[in-house]
Amino acid sequence: MRNLTCIVCPMGCSLTVEEGEPGADGFPVLTITGNRCPRGAVYAQEEIRSPRRVVTATCAIAEGPALSALPAGFAGPRRVPVKTSGPCPREKIDTLLKEIYRTRVQLPVRAGDKILPNWDGLGIDVVAVRGLG
Ligand code: SF4
Repeated sequence: MRNLTCIVCPMGCSLTVEEGEPGADGFPVLTITGNRCPRGAVYAQEEIRSPRRVVTATCAIAEGPALSALPAGFAGPRRVPVKTSGPCPREKIDTLLKEIYRTRVQLPVRAGDKILPNWDGLGIDVVAVRGLG
């Protein structure tokens, strides 16, 4: 038995997941209780079988004219906040973060710009959360 907190909405339902015998797909049949709506059951299924998370981080700004054009003593952000456009498999998050921290973003950048499109062929992009430059 596992206890989870559903993070799909602010209600934060406490879920209990019991694993039964393997089903037709070879995975144990899950009995999920405590969810107030069907989305909680979907969340629990995914969390047990293939946990994923939206990743947020920041990217460094590339050296260049746009960076040097920022006023001396500029107090704004020196890094560009980014996030994934969808949830990333949890086992790949360390690799993704390493790539994000290696990446240097050319200014100007606008909110929604794809910094790392279709990362690792997973169909998720790393996008800028806000513009800069
Ligand atoms: S089970 Fe439904 S109501 Fe409860 S936290 Fe998840 S999404 Fe929200």
